[in-house]
Amino acid sequence: MRAVVIEGPGSIAVHELPDPTPGPGDVVVAVRAAGICGTDIHLLDGELPYDSYPIVPGHEFYGEVVATGADVDPAWLNRIVTVDPNMPCRACPECRRGRANLCERYEALGVTTDGAAAELVRVPSTLAYVLPPDVSDVGALLTEPLACAIHGVDMLPRHPQDRYLVYGAGTMGLMMSLLAADLTNEQVTVVELNPARRALAESFGFRAVASPDEIDPDARWETVVDCTGAVAAIEDGLGRVRRGGAFQCFGVADPAATIKVSPFDVYRDEITIVGSMAVQNSFDRASRLAQTWGDDKLGPLVTHGFALDEYSQAVDTFRGGTGLKIAIRPGGAS
Ligand SMILES: [Zn+2]
Ligand SMILES: [Zn+2]
Repeated sequence: MRAVVIEGPGSIAVHELPDPTPGPGDVVVAVRAAGICGTDIHLLDGELPYDSYPIVPGHEFYGEVVATGADVDPAWLNRIVTVDPNMPCRACPECRRGRANLCERYEALGVTTDGAAAELVRVPSTLAYVLPPDVSDVGALLTEPLACAIHGVDMLPRHPQDRYLVYGAGTMGLMMSLLAADLTNEQVTVVELNPARRALAESFGFRAVASPDEIDPDARWETVVDCTGAVAAIEDGLGRVRRGGAFQCFGVADPAATIKVSPFDVYRDEITIVGSMAVQNSFDRASRLAQTWGDDKLGPLVTHGFALDEYSQAVDTFRGGTGLKIAIRPGGAS
């Protein structure tokens, strides 16, 4: 099979690799589309704390089951599935207290073991989710990031008619904003520096600003979510939380970054600061929501498609920041 291989930090190539064979409990999926996200870029740049090279990247994907392990129900064959890439050990203290996304022996397809930027990928059948009928190509492709966003919302305190302020109108910021809009009748406010992304956010019905100062320097929101990972955005956002409200670090910051925060304000204003990491009990809901939302909402979030052999070009496009989700289609670009 053809596969993208990251040989080591900064080194990427498309190779012919042996087709994967399913082991006990496994299925092999013929990949229809795999998304590129920041994690893939961090892996390529050597910025993740795992020495998993050489590795096939790709953890957001869907495709058709084309082979099953000896002990797997053959009914899996030909099913169209999306796959939760996270492989918790189910044995460590975090897994045993129901926080498998925080597993101490974290493994994930496309991060610590070969992923889906390939014609074929081997996955444990327990992580495959049969897609609902009629879910679109885009909805199937976006199930994994949507599952991350749903987990983010799960981690927030929520009250009827809360107002939401979201930093960043990339794929994740827009998904978080769409979820927030489903929770409240108040208009969601999105902070985004890029005018094209602001325009897209407005087309979804959000109020889009370059800075909340444009609305009112003294305005405060019950829930503020950072989807940028940028220190300036996080520090600004923490100052926009209403007393009794919550701030979420959803975007992935540089591990070495630090922020200034007033512990007195957190104390006096009873601010909740909460994180959100990957997926937890949200994959099934994401695939159903992808079907419900359909391409009206999700279609604009996928802006580019590349063939497997064009992976480097796809990475350059991602780095250029002109688009949103970029799809790799091992069967050819569409
Ligand atoms: Zn991702
Ligand atoms: Zn574990």
